[in-house]
Amino acid sequence: MNEMYDVIIVGGGAAGLTAAIYAARRLLKTLIITLDIGGQALLTDQIENYPGYLGKSGIKLMKIFEEQARSFGAEILIGYVTKIEKVDDHFKVISNVGEYETKAVIIAAGKVPRKLNVPGEDKFLGRGVSTCVTCDAPFAKNKIVAVVGGGNSALEGAEVLSKFATKVYLIHRRDEFRADEITVEKVKKLSNVEFVLNTIVTEIKGDKKLESIIIKNVKSGEERELKVDMVFLEIGHETKIDFVKHLVKVDEYNQIITNKLAETSCEGIFAAGDVTDSPYKQLVIAAAEGAIAALSAYNYIAKKEGKTGIKVDWKGGG
Ligand code: NAP
Repeated sequence: MNEMYDVIIVGGGAAGLTAAIYAARRLLKTLIITLDIGGQALLTDQIENYPGYLGKSGIKLMKIFEEQARSFGAEILIGYVTKIEKVDDHFKVISNVGEYETKAVIIAAGKVPRKLNVPGEDKFLGRGVSTCVTCDAPFAKNKIVAVVGGGNSALEGAEVLSKFATKVYLIHRRDEFRADEITVEKVKKLSNVEFVLNTIVTEIKGDKKLESIIIKNVKSGEERELKVDMVFLEIGHETKIDFVKHLVKVDEYNQIITNKLAETSCEGIFAAGDVTDSPYKQLVIAAAEGAIAALSAYNYIAKKEGKTGIKVDWKGGG
C-alpha cells in the first residue's frame, strides 16, 4: 500500500483539475485518477463562454489546467476507479492502476455519452456509430449519415455534418426540440438535412460495415429501413458511478446529490462538475465546483486534525 494521500480526485476534467489546483495549493497531497486529461472540454473546437479565454480549443485550455495542477504538485494517473471503500476514518480507492488510501475523496467523474441500447449499436461503435460529431465529422465526407437527438448537440451536430455529408437525417423521438430555437431554424434551412421526427432507431444493421438503420414512427407504428453509412448519437450524457454508489446518495438521474459546499451524503466524500445534481452543465460551473470541493475537503481534513480551517460563514463580512 502506498503512502496516504490527503485527497484523491476521481476524474480529470475541468472540475477535477481545478479541484487539484486548489487542493495542491493548500499543500494537500493530491492525486487525480482519470481516464483522460481534460474530459468533455477536449471535444469542443472553440470555447466561447469560458471567461478570459475566447475562441480557442478546449484541448489547449485543458492543457493549461493540467500544467497548473502539476505545477503545484498534484499527481495524475491515467486509469479508472473500480471501487471506493470506507476504512475506519479514511478511504481506500481501488483502481486498475493500483490501490491508494486517502483522507478525502472528490468525485469529478463527469458524464459519458448515452447509448440507444439497440441491436447493432455495440458492433458498430467506433466503426460507423459515433458519439462525437466534433471528433468524427470528417469521416462523414460524401456519405449519407443520421444524427439522433433533439438537443443542442444533435442540432449543432447536424449543421456541422451538413458540410461534409451528402445527406443528413436528423432523427428525433418527438417533434419538439430541446435545442435553442435559433439553431433549429438554422438547421431547417439546410438543403441536405432532412428532419425525421416522432421517430426512434430500433436497429443498426450491416455485415462488415454499417449499411442501414431500422426506424419506427412512434405515432403511426410504421417501420422502415434507411440506408446510411454512419450514425451519430447525440442523445445526451449519463453518469457512471457504480464505484461509489454504495456510499453516496444520488438523484433520479443517477447524479450525486451535493450541497453548496460540494459535500455528499458521505462525510469525507465531495463531488463537483457534471457528475453532481447541480444545474447548468457548463465548463465554468464545473471548474467553480471543483474549487469549492477542494476547499471543503481541506476544511474537512483540517477539522479532523484540530487545525483552523477556512472560514465558511461570511455573514459577518470579510
Ligand atoms: P440534451 O439537451 O439532454 O438532449 C438530448 C436529446 O436526446 C433530447 O432531445 C432527447 O430527447 C434525446 N434522447 C435522449 N435519450 C434518448 C434515447 N434513448 N433515444 C432517443 N433520443 C434520446 O443533450 P445535449 O444535446 O447533449 O446537450 C446537453 C447540454 O449541453 C444541454 O444543456 C445543452 O443545451 C448543452 N449544450 C449547449 C451547446 C451550446 O450552447 N452551444 C451545445 C451543445 C450542448 P427528448 O427531447 O425527447 O428528451
